[in-house]
Amino acid sequence: MKILVINSGSSSLKYRLFNMEMEEVLAKGICDRIGFGMGSVTHKRPGKPDYHAEMIIPDHGAALSALLLLITDEELGVINDISEIDAVGHRIAHGGEKIKGSAVIGEDELLYLDSITGINPLHGPAGIKGIEACRTLLPNVPQVGVFDTSYHSTMPEHAYIYPLPYEYYEKYKIRRYGFHGTSHRFVAMQCAAEMGVPFEQTKIITCHLGNGSSITASKYGESIDTSMGFTPQDGLIMGTRTGSIDPTVLTYIMKAENLSAEEADDIINRNSGLLGVSGVSNDCREILDEETKGNKRAALAMNMLVMNVKKLIGSYLAEMNGADAVVFTAGIGENSPVIRSRICRDMDFFGIKIDEEKNIAASTRGAVDITAPDGTMKVFVIPTDEEYMIAKDTMDIVKKL
Ligand code: ADP
Repeated sequence: MKILVINSGSSSLKYRLFNMEMEEVLAKGICDRIGFGMGSVTHKRPGKPDYHAEMIIPDHGAALSALLLLITDEELGVINDISEIDAVGHRIAHGGEKIKGSAVIGEDELLYLDSITGINPLHGPAGIKGIEACRTLLPNVPQVGVFDTSYHSTMPEHAYIYPLPYEYYEKYKIRRYGFHGTSHRFVAMQCAAEMGVPFEQTKIITCHLGNGSSITASKYGESIDTSMGFTPQDGLIMGTRTGSIDPTVLTYIMKAENLSAEEADDIINRNSGLLGVSGVSNDCREILDEETKGNKRAALAMNMLVMNVKKLIGSYLAEMNGADAVVFTAGIGENSPVIRSRICRDMDFFGIKIDEEKNIAASTRGAVDITAPDGTMKVFVIPTDEEYMIAKDTMDIVKKL
């Protein structure tokens, strides 16, 4: 079965074509700067030279046409005809309150997604454009949506309601939704498989630490709490986002600097976090480099990240009455032994102890158990693969149609 996975952003469209029988990626790429004059297309196939071209891509439909031409091209292609595509899996950022799992996207679902773009203004319209382009150009192919929020739909009410007047939840659906759900679900399931225990019998804390970061507590196969909230702004300090702060800080700065809501939004989303504190970069590697040169603000930013993660792990251990494992994933989680080591330091109270040699050697190829021999709680490094999870969900759903 061949599944095309589409991740549609406001000005980009990423794709990955899977052959699910062989669990292999046939091709992947990105159409960039859609609607911005000269755009570009990059197309990659394993073991073959990459293809790159500059072209005007006026809209998402044009981007999809370009990629369909590429994957079926005589020279650059990986399939003979678009009829070989059995289904399309779409990465959708927000499924609102109603969508509780991956699902076929028909007319009703599209209308619902359109109705919730107000709470998802950045990614909502882009996701819809991607689906509409696929419905037009691949009209007989099932379209499946896989949602960043849906894994967290199992959170209990007391985990997702904010302590605001209840009417804001009723009026505007302001609540914790959580994001990165596909990644948390994928690595938590992988972790259970590594431990040889059914997912439904595990308690796992997954730390997705990338440019955007979140931590999730999965109890007996379900997300019961997660650090991102109404938007992906909540929770941990991130590359350029504050994460959780005293809300009054924002209103104070707005008044002091006479800022509009948009300007304030920009500050907490683009100029804060590791970048804002360190003054160096949003990239953890560059901050760690600066820290070794004695840059105090770089060290401060790293210390804040480490403490944030520790605090959340601790709170989820309290919520779940312990855990079987902690998992590190995404850019920082997979690639930074230093950060993993600092997070796990002085956590032996919980049975968290890592083997430094295994930690340093942990590569991004497959799951690695980095638990020390006397650690009673497992610690894993597991590369996330959201695209594979989307393809797998899509295949499972389409097989039942
Ligand atoms: P996104 O949230 O954009 O998907 P990623 O999961 O790709 O982000 O993570 C990107 C981040 O991973 C980079 O900003 C960088 O800080 C971090 N990163 C990648 N490699 C390393 C490394 N070797 N050491 C520390 N941080 C790293």
